[in-house]
Amino acid sequence: MRFSKLRLNGFKSFVDPTDLVIADGLTGVVGPNGCGKSNLLEALRWVMGENRPTAMRGGGMEDVIFAGAATRPARNFAEVLLQIDNSDRLAPAGFNDLDTLEIVRRITRDAGSAYKANAKDVRARDVQMLFADASTGAHSPALVRQGMISELINAKPKSRRRILEEAAGISGLYQRRHEAELKLNGAEANLVRVDDVIEQLA
Ligand code: ATP
Repeated sequence: MRFSKLRLNGFKSFVDPTDLVIADGLTGVVGPNGCGKSNLLEALRWVMGENRPTAMRGGGMEDVIFAGAATRPARNFAEVLLQIDNSDRLAPAGFNDLDTLEIVRRITRDAGSAYKANAKDVRARDVQMLFADASTGAHSPALVRQGMISELINAKPKSRRRILEEAAGISGLYQRRHEAELKLNGAEANLVRVDDVIEQLA
């Protein structure tokens, strides 16, 4: 499973559809200050399910939509497509039937985000779990933003442990455990109600 292309459309400064081809080997992005290099990394994080506007350097998630410029009006939506080469068939179950996997996230003003995997509607959670199970995702330690190294050096051991867990591909288990706990609580509440009913009937 390997990222092969990122397409941005209306995302931050990338108002027109723009393809970034990620070839084998090392890909470098160079350009003057403010040309949008960090926006590319943010697009990658965003399409993998980032839900904290601050991680996108914004106040709200709609701040990722092109806000307009002197010669161009603002856009009403932003879309990022991540193309993944899955010819090795290493994508997690449920996403593994084709050689290419395309994940799309689109945000529309006043309507929030929607996700698709190979043109089928999926939930944010499905996309987040897909990348967590593949040891990557919006919070992957492989995505190093400015200032992150010094944050890591000063971090508490618990925060550092999270990085090791993400690298080991087990961070998705926390979400699953949380969901299992909610189900268990629901089942326990139902059992208490059943006990009450039995008591009333006795
Ligand atoms: P540096 O080398 O200084 O770190 P950079 O190449 O990483 O810069 P970015 O920080 O990715 O550049 O891009 C910043 C540019 O993106 C700014 O010009 C900013 O105005 C523009 N930008 C950010 N959000 C939006 C938006 N919603 N709409 C339009 N332009 C935006």
